[in-house]
Amino acid sequence: MALIVQKYGGNLLSTPEKVLAVANKIKKLIDEGDQVVAVVSAMGKTTDELIDLAYKVSAKPIRRELDMLLSVGERISMSLLSMALNDLKVPAKSFTGSQSGILTESDHTQARIYDVKPIRIEAELAKKSMIIIAGFQGVSHMEKEITTLGRGGTDTTAVAMSYSLKADRCEIIKEVGGIYSADPAQISKAKRYEELNYDVALEATYWGAKILHFRAVELAKKLNIPIQIKHIDDPKITTTIRGDVKMLESQKIITISSVKNIAVCEFSSDLKKTLSEVGEFLKKNTLPWPQILATESTENSTKLFISSSDESLKVVIGAIKESKSYKNCDDQHSTVTATCFGSTNTDLSLKILEQLEKKNVHAEKIFYTPQSISVLVKSKDRDTAISALHELV
Ligand code: ASP
Ligand code: MG
Repeated sequence: MALIVQKYGGNLLSTPEKVLAVANKIKKLIDEGDQVVAVVSAMGKTTDELIDLAYKVSAKPIRRELDMLLSVGERISMSLLSMALNDLKVPAKSFTGSQSGILTESDHTQARIYDVKPIRIEAELAKKSMIIIAGFQGVSHMEKEITTLGRGGTDTTAVAMSYSLKADRCEIIKEVGGIYSADPAQISKAKRYEELNYDVALEATYWGAKILHFRAVELAKKLNIPIQIKHIDDPKITTTIRGDVKMLESQKIITISSVKNIAVCEFSSDLKKTLSEVGEFLKKNTLPWPQILATESTENSTKLFISSSDESLKVVIGAIKESKSYKNCDDQHSTVTATCFGSTNTDLSLKILEQLEKKNVHAEKIFYTPQSISVLVKSKDRDTAISALHELV
């Protein structure tokens, strides 16, 4: 008997029929003798709809209440799945993040997990209950407020629960069962990897690969939890992400990923002043920091290259526009990234530029990390750049 933590994303639970189909899959595993903890996301686009709803009521929804609202999405999925399983005679019980003992920091809408104390879950597992946990949420350990972990956070919940329950396996169940050399929905020739090491997966997800939440890979690496991405209908279609995958020192490109929304914002002050002004306005509007990918500055001019989820990038830009030294912001940029073993000290960036030139795509900037090369392009050139760079894989 194995204890398996399985994450089911919003796509797999988007309709009542799909919820029933997932319930049947889980029942099959249980009938085979395994113990299952399912970590679920909100149905389909529920989280986006809840965010839209919030902005219809308030131009600046306060983040505490946003978390109260958003945490509801996962509660809908968990209770429906539990009803379906109970109808199938599986003794299932659902639990919120807070009931599951997911303790977080206080930072609303992007809280980090501080500790997991799964006391109730362990007691229910001892009684042989099948457990369903609402992903993406927890409770702040100081104030006991409901928090969410940032968009895509259900993957992170699954990794944290696998660790604290000492699960035998942590599986991320998907309609696309693995990590490919590019998003197979976009590049039909993309090939799947049987296994990848944490570093490559971390780099690809940081630079936009949608298959997993970046923070989940980060946590899995830290805790040394292997993650298996698995196809919902064909368990043979998988990619395992773990630490001890032998990837020899080749410079071959492994995968192409892309961040859709990058904004380049310009200010008329030096770097330190710009960052402190921006920080002040974010704080005033109770907004989280966006991801800053790079900065460029002189004594009286600074450019910030920032990214964030679709809806929050607009809101963040709206807030920093109020700062005194704000000049302009162009949010029509994207990055396209080639992840490889060693990207430094090679001519790979030149090859990438040549490849883009053939398709008339202009790269405005390159971001180098030890395992990747990313080019900044205009959003309109994003798709062309992805397929051009995939030819180098
Ligand atoms: N439902 C949340 C989101 O859409 C969390 C998740 O899907 O992992 O971001
Ligand atoms: Mg979701």
